[in-house]
Amino acid sequence: MSSVFYYTPRYLGYNLGPHHPLKPIRYRRTYDLLEGYGIFGPETPVVEPEPADVDLVRRAHTDDYLTAIRTLSEDPDAPVRSAYGLGPGDTPAFPGMWEASLLYTGASVQGAEHLLSGEGRRAHNIAGGLHHAQANRASGFCILNDAAVAIHRLLETLERVVYIDIDAHHGDGVEALFYDDPRVMTISTHESGQWLFPGTGFPTEIGQGEARGTAINIPLAPYTSDDTFLWVFHEVVPRAIEEFQPQAVVTQFGADAHFSDPLAHLALTTRSYEAMLAYYHTLGLPWLALGGGGYNIDTVPRIWSLVYAALANVDLPDELPERYRAEYGGERLRDGEVRIDEAESYRVEEYARRAVAELQRALGWD
Ligand SMILES: [Zn+2]
Repeated sequence: MSSVFYYTPRYLGYNLGPHHPLKPIRYRRTYDLLEGYGIFGPETPVVEPEPADVDLVRRAHTDDYLTAIRTLSEDPDAPVRSAYGLGPGDTPAFPGMWEASLLYTGASVQGAEHLLSGEGRRAHNIAGGLHHAQANRASGFCILNDAAVAIHRLLETLERVVYIDIDAHHGDGVEALFYDDPRVMTISTHESGQWLFPGTGFPTEIGQGEARGTAINIPLAPYTSDDTFLWVFHEVVPRAIEEFQPQAVVTQFGADAHFSDPLAHLALTTRSYEAMLAYYHTLGLPWLALGGGGYNIDTVPRIWSLVYAALANVDLPDELPERYRAEYGGERLRDGEVRIDEAESYRVEEYARRAVAELQRALGWD
């Protein structure tokens, strides 16, 4: 049973610009932190990612969109009929974005292939989890939907795959790409679209046709913290998995649900992330973990290191490695006791209870 970690300095080529909140340095810092802990070895290898096969990418994206990415990648100012959501704005076009997008997507596909190659296998692609990308347009910093492409690769062999997304933002792209596909269950917890981009992900969105009941959404109020979040997670996820009986699990670990994140307003600490990781462990399923959002670059490496440590079945000491501290600062891996005040004005707990009740009604759970 081996747990692969995908990394290359070329990940830093997914660069949306010097003032963009998505900082590619978060990939290097995560690698440096894990490396500082000495976690990599024969059963926990670092594997160099390769670009995704374009034919596989086509299963999630339209040809005209892929052509536009390629054209704008060569010349971001090229005259195109439609820019398909590629800048100016959240997701600006940049030179080399075609190659950079194929690379992070390729790592997620390699992760899927690693899972298929044997029992109990695990893989982690921190540059993946770009969940907003749609079939025919870029959205929310995401160009290619690597999660969807990797799931398509899993479906070549498996019959049912569950995708669980705890990013602060609704996992709208992955959901939309499988909204009518009964082979894929998507579960997303997120800050409610009432307050946050992309404005979707309500409990009544449950999939359509034969896939009714395979899209699950739990919107949360700003300032939702560990106790409320973990209540929601345990109320919904185990039951959904029990009913769906997936053969593999794909988890998107956006670090922007953390209380320190500057772009969203949820208030999780590392305690929530570790509790979820412990739960995924108990499933004993092939497990592909992906990155996602995360805009506090001191926080992201800590969370994603906890993710990989869980995959690798290693308990990391709380004190950050000397070398990492010297270069980047910080002291502890975990948050410890953090006092979070769930803002009373948002009625955090009540909002969560109502969302879960509404979901249960929509799914016909009693
Ligand atoms: Zn996000």
